[in-house]
Amino acid sequence: MQSMLDDFLKEKQTDEDNLWDCDNCNKRVQPFKFSEILSPPRHLCICLSRLEYVMTPTFHLLKKTTKVEIEPMISIGMFTYDLYFIVVHEGKN
Ligand SMILES: [Zn+2]
Repeated sequence: MQSMLDDFLKEKQTDEDNLWDCDNCNKRVQPFKFSEILSPPRHLCICLSRLEYVMTPTFHLLKKTTKVEIEPMISIGMFTYDLYFIVVHEGKN
């Protein structure tokens, strides 16, 4: 979980097929994007997206089955959170 969160919060460049229009130079650019928590909440809720949209052979949802290790504590910058509950939804497959 910690490594997934670290990866989610780090700066990444958008894909080559996801160019943006720059307001400054009016060119198509490949920008960097990142997420950060400016004001850490008292309780942090994390939802893992376990479904992925797949376009081939036809448009459908694919369930991710990668195992995720849940640590008893996670850190975001200088803030730490203790795990106090988990909800696991299980589908039919
Ligand atoms: Zn520009």
